[in-house]
Amino acid sequence: MLSVSDAQAIILNLVQPLDLQRDREVVNLLTADSRILATPVTSPLDFPHWDNSAMDGYAVRYEDVQHSSTEQPAILEIVEEIPAGYQPKSTIQPGQAARIFTGAVIPAGADTVVMQEKTHREENRVFILDVPKPQGFVRRKASFYQAGTQLLPAGIKLNASEIAVLAAAQCRQLSVYRRPRVAIFSTGDELVTVDQPLQPGQIVDSNQYALAALVRQSGAEPLILGIVKDDPVALEKVIAHAIAIADIVLSSGGVSVGDYDYVDKILESLQAKIHIQAVQISPGKPLTVATFPTQNSALYFGLPGNPAAVLVTFWRFVLPAIKKLSGITEGWEPLFLKVRSHDELRSDGKRETYLWGKLHLIDGVYEFHKAGGSHSSGNLINLAQTNALAVLPVGKTLISPQEQVQVLQLSNR
Ligand code: AMP
Ligand code: MG
Repeated sequence: MLSVSDAQAIILNLVQPLDLQRDREVVNLLTADSRILATPVTSPLDFPHWDNSAMDGYAVRYEDVQHSSTEQPAILEIVEEIPAGYQPKSTIQPGQAARIFTGAVIPAGADTVVMQEKTHREENRVFILDVPKPQGFVRRKASFYQAGTQLLPAGIKLNASEIAVLAAAQCRQLSVYRRPRVAIFSTGDELVTVDQPLQPGQIVDSNQYALAALVRQSGAEPLILGIVKDDPVALEKVIAHAIAIADIVLSSGGVSVGDYDYVDKILESLQAKIHIQAVQISPGKPLTVATFPTQNSALYFGLPGNPAAVLVTFWRFVLPAIKKLSGITEGWEPLFLKVRSHDELRSDGKRETYLWGKLHLIDGVYEFHKAGGSHSSGNLINLAQTNALAVLPVGKTLISPQEQVQVLQLSNR
């Protein structure tokens, strides 16, 4: 059976990122948070825009103060006061200084700022009590960024720090990739919606809601197609519609080997190329991944029906695919942390096993606490309030308390 890492490689290889020309839109900076930049940004502004002071103090000529000390201070005449936001008028001559404040423009003639703590003032004279560093506390024009060079590359996610940079550069509108469209439906005769009365033998379709939340948190747009009966005709209709409207299709259920598991057969009848049918992972073994070479570039994930398997396979396989599709240029793969396990973790060793739990910070070190209750893939109750998955590789049957374990941090919570 296909290993988890081989399955991930196959999936990422199948993903065609959104198209730079066709799949972009313009958004305002205020709504650009978490979007993916589609074109590199350059700015016509230098950073800093001009030489400015990093301190409250006095702008001086270094040669005037290079021998200063408490005993023999240089004494300079203050010729101007320059608050932030003002253009200095004077040129500092030998023997002169300007009172200056943080962020204010360095006046012509001055090359160094002496912090006010190292000075003593008497009316319009300042006594320099210490030798500053040559050019000290001067932020040079363009020393942080040179106008016309690349400020931000394409393919990055815009978080608060990037938004701040773009605001400082007065980039009001940005070209970003459109959100990936992810169609979601559930299969099963036993399923009802949250609004329908539950009859004996029925269960509520929780997967649809879980997947919609996961897709939205990933930055993509969920297209919710509802519940489809275990009926080949109905299924074929929905799958054909889904692949026509979405970049990625997520179905849950119907991919196992039961008599009512029709998804793979219908994919074949739609001339799909099936790349994956099972992965050595627990929970989540029956996982179908298909493309439709004769139709379009949609990527189909037939996820298992079990609620825990849906979440685990989404985090492990679907999320990296959405990231790559979204235009992000790197960092698609999940990030695993090595942490200490608080509990004994067990697996039968046959499949890469994911156990849900919670990361706690103990004296600054992460510790994994396995969720109490059943870790059956049919149980979703104890998944609530978890924020990490511990991973036992194939062949590893036991991790003892205090031993190290790899965990997948579920950052989107
Ligand atoms: P299946 O893969 O279709 O055989 O489903 C496996 C198990 O997951 C069955 O016990 C189903 O009842 C359950 N299941 C399937 N789909 C869903 C769903 N959308 N929400 C919650 N549980 C589901
Ligand atoms: Mg089913």
